[in-house]
Amino acid sequence: MNASKNDLPMSFDTLAVHAGREDLTALGLHALPIDLSTTNPLPDIEKGGDSYEALATGGTPPEGGSNVYARLWNPTVARFEAGLAQLEHAETSVAFASGMAALTAALLAFTASTGKRHVVAVRPLYGGTDHLLATGLLGTEVTFCNPDEVAASVRSDTGLVLMETPANPTLELVSIADVVKQSGEVPVLVDNTFATPVLQNPLDHGAAMSMHSATKYLGGHGDVIGGVIACSEEHAEMLRPIRAITGAILHPLAAYLLHRGLTTLPLRVRAQQDNARKVAEWLSTQESVEKVYFPGMNEDPAGVLGTQMSGPGAMISIRLKGGYAAAEKLTTSVNIFTHAVSLGGVDSLIENPAALTHRPVAGDAKPDAGLVRMSIGLESPEDLIADLAQGL
Ligand SMILES: *Cc1c(COP(=O)(O)O)cnc(C)c1O
Repeated sequence: MNASKNDLPMSFDTLAVHAGREDLTALGLHALPIDLSTTNPLPDIEKGGDSYEALATGGTPPEGGSNVYARLWNPTVARFEAGLAQLEHAETSVAFASGMAALTAALLAFTASTGKRHVVAVRPLYGGTDHLLATGLLGTEVTFCNPDEVAASVRSDTGLVLMETPANPTLELVSIADVVKQSGEVPVLVDNTFATPVLQNPLDHGAAMSMHSATKYLGGHGDVIGGVIACSEEHAEMLRPIRAITGAILHPLAAYLLHRGLTTLPLRVRAQQDNARKVAEWLSTQESVEKVYFPGMNEDPAGVLGTQMSGPGAMISIRLKGGYAAAEKLTTSVNIFTHAVSLGGVDSLIENPAALTHRPVAGDAKPDAGLVRMSIGLESPEDLIADLAQGL
């Protein structure tokens, strides 16, 4: 709950509609404005210089100063950041050109910039994240581990612990509080893309950062690439200089679409989740399906569902008895589902993680070839079930 100007508490759904729009009335606006300026007028040399200094070192534009240059600061992006931060119970957030740009900035800020180059990564992770860490491209050294091996993997030079829940593509639920406890003083970054702030707020469980591929549920319409990290102002001051130096800031048009998307986020996520429950229940009765991976239908020893995460979400994976051949038949014979990677939009998608999203993942951690992952959208669940029935 957050307080409004007349001190009435605001629920999540109200915040989703209003957060980050606090300055609009004073500007005489109702809809979100888009500022496309690449450069900004400077009041005088001294205030211009002070503004540049503040922004290049991770701060915010000083009172009476300037935004200077759009790679350092953009007001349309800043409004989206303020809105998302409130939904994530965070002090602030920092928005990037993609989820991978956000992850790259976090790795550089907490490893290269601190001299602690070791990263503990709890598997399974998004294929791109796994790939980036495995290549060591950013000068990191990684220890991949299971959720119960974090304490044993942390070293004196560990700069960051990474985890994802629900994990991709098998939707395992991981206790954030447990990983945080095992990590001691090391900051924990949770990839919250699958759960969204509607179902889970990692900072409430001790995580330092909640990261999103905003491309997925936050955008929700399959037409914008972006990333965001919700965190404390102290951590934001470490992330912003990396974003400025590496040129990774979110584009203002993308920020506009993402901010507009926040207004319907709770409605979309809950409706997609209701559809996913129906589809998952139906799938679990199908002869050709060996196993359904859906939170609530699998083991949850830490009791994450209902405590850390308020609902199962809208992602389902299935393992087919017919293996790869059956996966090939299903993904190419559906009509309402689109055979495509990505997730979280209003329309349903289906894909084979082993061949696509998790292709770069090393042998032993690669998903089963007969695994099929679905992102359930807003279509009628009866139509989705009929589409899958003819494909199975
Ligand atoms: C898509 C995705 C990413 C990467 O985000 P991009 O916006 O594609 O760069 C990271 N984590 C998860 C869980 C994802 O689904």
